Amino acid sequence: MTEIDRTGDRAPAPADWTYAPAPESRDVVKLRERYGLYVGGEWLEPSETYETISPASEETLAVVGQATAEDVDRAVAAARAAFENGWSSLPGSERAKYLFRIARILQERARELAVLESLNGGKPIKESRDVDLPLAAAHFFYYAGWADKLEYAFPNRRPRPVGVAGQIIPWNFPLLMLAWKIAPALACGNTVVLKPAETTPLTALLFCDVLRQAELPPGVVNIVTGDGRTGAALVEHDGVDKIAFTGSTEVGKAIQRRLAGTGKKLTLELGGKAANVVFDDCALDQAVEGIVNGIYFNQGHVCCAGSRLLVQESIYEPLVDKLRRRLETLRVGEPLDKNTDVGAINSAVQLEKIRELVESGREEGADIYQPPCRLPEKGYWFAPTVFTNVAQSYRIAQEEIFGPVLSVLTFRTPDEAVEKANNTPYGLSAGVWTEKGSRILWMAQQLRAGVVWANTYNRFDPTSPFGGYKESGFGREGGLHGLEPYLRFDG
Ligand code: NDP
Repeated sequence: MTEIDRTGDRAPAPADWTYAPAPESRDVVKLRERYGLYVGGEWLEPSETYETISPASEETLAVVGQATAEDVDRAVAAARAAFENGWSSLPGSERAKYLFRIARILQERARELAVLESLNGGKPIKESRDVDLPLAAAHFFYYAGWADKLEYAFPNRRPRPVGVAGQIIPWNFPLLMLAWKIAPALACGNTVVLKPAETTPLTALLFCDVLRQAELPPGVVNIVTGDGRTGAALVEHDGVDKIAFTGSTEVGKAIQRRLAGTGKKLTLELGGKAANVVFDDCALDQAVEGIVNGIYFNQGHVCCAGSRLLVQESIYEPLVDKLRRRLETLRVGEPLDKNTDVGAINSAVQLEKIRELVESGREEGADIYQPPCRLPEKGYWFAPTVFTNVAQSYRIAQEEIFGPVLSVLTFRTPDEAVEKANNTPYGLSAGVWTEKGSRILWMAQQLRAGVVWANTYNRFDPTSPFGGYKESGFGREGGLHGLEPYLRFDG
């Protein structure tokens, strides 16, 4: 406990402002030593396995299956059987009941799932507890509402389910990405084979328990864990009617090439290098909070992270000064501590990628700032970083770093801001900070980005469509738009 200094007649004040540890209990999660593949409502014993770890401590958490092409084949067959034997012809109002149930169970078991998400992925517990879990439940609630209203969403177009959806998700928001994928697919009457990312399979496996609790018919959702080979087997399987992928642009392009000419439906949600544009008439302190949230939320492992800060020249110095001071207050460390702002980097591979790109920034001539902070000895960590003096051509201004690293550039006029913001192969998201409503609307029209946040950043809502332009992919998830990729139209 912080010691309170009560001497004299002064108001009591803490003698020491450091935070006492506030650990969330690990005991709410009961991990099994070994997990199989969830196929047709049963646990299938995998022929190959690997260990999944905690990136904060490098300890092994469980042994999970590495699904082979044969395993994927079984999962697709189970999904096909469930599709044909009742799920696709179930009235929408009945499907909705299952989705509502899943949403309620996610809420009831939120603490357990949040702890496991932080344990396996390294993200701060306050984020998995306050962002990932509530949003995952909200997606199921939201799409439950659409399940019996598809005819109204798409009038005179006779919406029908597509069939079996193959879904491949990344490691940055494991349970939330699962919800983004599974909820609309089931609402539309499809069945699913989902592959979680290699490094973060555990919440998807615990979710199978949620499905059993909700009494979802066997085979409607199948979960196959494994690495990229499992994903590739799913993409290549002839029995899959639609692929939904979130991950790197590189793998997204490979999937698109593989599916060309097959007639399979495809949505890709890929990388980003978002510009967060700050004008000199903005509320500066509010903008600094938005910048910090934009890039250090989830260690910067966010496809829509505001990783390029574009600052109007006239406020460059005060803004960078405030930003540095704010960085000094960020607490980096144990993901399960409720005070932690920046947790562990998801994997050794990702840490190496961040280090390599940061090194390129130094070599190309940018100035680096990292606040003094002690990083734990075990596990994968990277201090919050700001680069100033960055040229548009530097790799750190062009490539997705996917870590807690911000590149600061400047502009003089709104036209220059737009020019620089759009000068990237990506187009997923952007931020605008200004007092002027007219400028916000103008910027939103000029920026080639799927989402433009104004005087805020990283706000997500199931009713709002999300997706990119250019190399950030195509198709939308969320909202009414998010139903369309899971439907075919006969009318
Ligand atoms: P990947 O694109 O490799 O991973 C995304 C998912 O695709 C994972 O489930 C992965 O499995 C799977 N996968 C990998 N190869 C194939 C394949 N050939 N066919 C089908 N599925 C495949 O991203 P990484 O995890 O390698 O991260 C690399 C970079 O990608 C990051 O540094 C970041 O820049 C970006 N990224 C972007 C994300 C976004 O939300 N837009 C999310 C994650 C990463 P496995 O996990 O086993 O590799």
